[in-house]
Amino acid sequence: MKKIAVLGSTGSIGTQTLEVVRSNRDIQVTALAAGSNVAALEAQIREFSPQIACIYDREKAEDLKQRVRNLDVKILSGMEGLIETAVEPSAGIVVTAVVGMIGIRPTIAAIEAGKDIALANKETLVTAGHIIIPLAREKNVQILPVDSEHAAIFQCLNGERSPDGRSGNKIQKILLTASGGPFRGWSREQMKEVKPEDALKHPNWAMGKKITIDSSTMVNKGLEVMEAKWLFGVEMNQIQVVIQPQSIIHSMVEFEDGAVMAQLGTPDMKLPIQYALCYPERRYLPGDRLDFTTLSQITFESPSPENFPGLSLAYRAGETGGSMPTAFNAANELAVSRFLNRQISYLTITDIIESAMDHHRLVKNPSVDEILETEKAVYEYIESRW
Ligand code: NDP
Ligand code: MG
Repeated sequence: MKKIAVLGSTGSIGTQTLEVVRSNRDIQVTALAAGSNVAALEAQIREFSPQIACIYDREKAEDLKQRVRNLDVKILSGMEGLIETAVEPSAGIVVTAVVGMIGIRPTIAAIEAGKDIALANKETLVTAGHIIIPLAREKNVQILPVDSEHAAIFQCLNGERSPDGRSGNKIQKILLTASGGPFRGWSREQMKEVKPEDALKHPNWAMGKKITIDSSTMVNKGLEVMEAKWLFGVEMNQIQVVIQPQSIIHSMVEFEDGAVMAQLGTPDMKLPIQYALCYPERRYLPGDRLDFTTLSQITFESPSPENFPGLSLAYRAGETGGSMPTAFNAANELAVSRFLNRQISYLTITDIIESAMDHHRLVKNPSVDEILETEKAVYEYIESRW
């Protein structure tokens, strides 16, 4: 029996993870965590009978305790509750599907406790990759990517390198594919009036709100470039973003001899989720299959740096390193929540990121505390300036 903990179980990745669990009878859920959605978490507790469940919002924890008082489940809250959920002793894999940098401490705690990580929560790796990757090596823990592009790259590397990437064939280049989002081909002028409801319409994927906005600005692709740098041990300049609007090719790897490996499939997050949970085994997954006789075309474009400055800012953040990716990410997290609350305009999101990065005083090799202090300082700067 595989035992898993799911952090962020009520979200897009979390609920799809539980769908995968439903169709794999040898996977059992031992711990669940959500932010504030008591009703959804209660239903999940009733269906999956975990030993521990955490609701981050302390006030909601009392409500949840009452709702499940007839069940044998420990209810926790706050950061210490989230960490306790991440280290629940019987789980072998922790699915990190919370959104944002809030995932840093629980992910580190899970690695320290020797758990493999099925990683969706990219913000954690972007800001703390220099701590997480060496720690995972030291603890002999696998980081199994859930993000579809990184899962594709991981599959392209099967048989090419040792699972820890320390021996085997060298990667020449990673070709990270992007759909281009709903505003592909638009000018800045056209994007001026974009409202949350416009940006929340992704052409190919149904995802949480924050990542859907990030996809529209291409900040998501920028975060993914940094995520790939940490996961696969490559330099920023070895990662090329290629727009592939049909989202059929999930990413590619070019090797030294010029061979390019790609992973293709219909867009469905359950594939990378199940692959991470069952790695290295492949299992049956219901759903549409690619039909190459009807698939009319797979096309490619280059991203436009003028229209999508979020991507260039991400390269700058990743190349600078240290605490700069945290400045980039924290500024984006706050700017996106302000945009969703209709407090700022769409184009202001990337203006805020640029301004926070320009203003940031770099810490070269930040500790977890320094990463969280950077987040706070960036928030204070944005509050005072915007
Ligand atoms: P959602 O917004 O749909 O879900 C976020 C989840 O995190 C919810 O369960 C939410 O709980 C929970 N959460 C929020 N804050 C806290 C907190 N403080 N403590 C505990 N749980 C919390 O996001 P997604 O599922 O879309 O994305 C999750 C992560 O996966 C992100 O990092 C995203 O970038 C990444 N990802 C997502 C993809 C997708 O297809 N959705 C694809 C690739 C990566 P509640 O419901 O109670 O608020
Ligand atoms: Mg992705």
